[in-house]
Amino acid sequence: MKDIPNTHPLKRSKEVTSFQDSLLGWYNEYQRKLPWRSDPSLYKTVISEFMLQQTRVSTVLPYYDNWLTKFPDFQTLARATEEEVLKAWEGLGYYSRARNLHKLAKIAATWKVPPGTVKEWMTLPGVGPYIAAAVTSIAMGKTEAVCDGNLVRVLSRIFAINEEFKDGATAQKKLQPIAQSLIDMDRPGDYNQAMMELGATVCHRQSPLCLTCPVLVFCTSGRTGNAEKFPRIEKKKNKKKSIQRYWLESDGKLLLFTDLHSKNKLSGIYELPQELPAFIEKECITFESIGIRKRTIGNIDYKEEIIRVSNLESIKDELDDGYLWSDSKKMKEITLSGPHRKWIGEIFDRQGEKELNSSGF
Ligand code: SF4
Repeated sequence: MKDIPNTHPLKRSKEVTSFQDSLLGWYNEYQRKLPWRSDPSLYKTVISEFMLQQTRVSTVLPYYDNWLTKFPDFQTLARATEEEVLKAWEGLGYYSRARNLHKLAKIAATWKVPPGTVKEWMTLPGVGPYIAAAVTSIAMGKTEAVCDGNLVRVLSRIFAINEEFKDGATAQKKLQPIAQSLIDMDRPGDYNQAMMELGATVCHRQSPLCLTCPVLVFCTSGRTGNAEKFPRIEKKKNKKKSIQRYWLESDGKLLLFTDLHSKNKLSGIYELPQELPAFIEKECITFESIGIRKRTIGNIDYKEEIIRVSNLESIKDELDDGYLWSDSKKMKEITLSGPHRKWIGEIFDRQGEKELNSSGF
């Protein structure tokens, strides 16, 4: 990535100051009232930044409140079991974030003084350049610019950057020096939050609100009217995968599975099983497709066909490792993946009131 073009107004330091003033003036007046912004602390900043990775603010809000009630500080979080942590995270997805946050809390609980540099923060579990810059700037006032997807969108539009980036991560890395060159030295945390706020509430992916944008005069593509052309990121096709899930009910309980021993991100999180337990004699039973559901994890589009298994002669209470018979009470206690909790609810709803009541769900 080349530096800021010589012809762009933000090449001049006086204009950079004017840009910062416009942005921060707008942020002072129009920022959303978010719980981690009132009475901020290092803990609140860390929790909100972990939760906000690849997740919308509106999705995070109820989780954040619940989390702060359950785990008000690093010490309480460090003492919690992994099961409790995953349960509180259930539905937010990308569970490695919750596991890393738990590991980080165990380290943070021993700090006399928290680390103060991006380099030190990046040695901690789950902390990459974005979280390290966000935490050190917002909670500690360090002049470290963040560069996430929002910043890539805003900066590539302001400078009408024509380069096509291989992916979002490459774009973030390449635009980081530009982000750093624009940061406000006096209010770095507010500046970072203002840029992210601008990306989230004004500089939308589609139909950006250029006419009311506080930095329109500095924005090449906004003034030209072709903002949606940027950023230019190579489009990659997701891989496709079809899998089967089994729906097996017995005595008002549903069979669920989690791979407790794998390093898989979903380890410890229950879903409908992909394989039946060994005790089931497959020859005697009936299989019936009861629905197809779709979801995307990372760059894979999954098509999951749910197969009802019936006509079993006998069901064993003793199950292979990882399997669980779950009634409605247990279902509330365990951590189910977000999509599977939703699908299970939908299928029970469809089975109708009578069956719903008799099954106890
Ligand atoms: S003027 Fe338009 S494209 Fe430029 S930063 Fe503002 S909203 Fe984004």
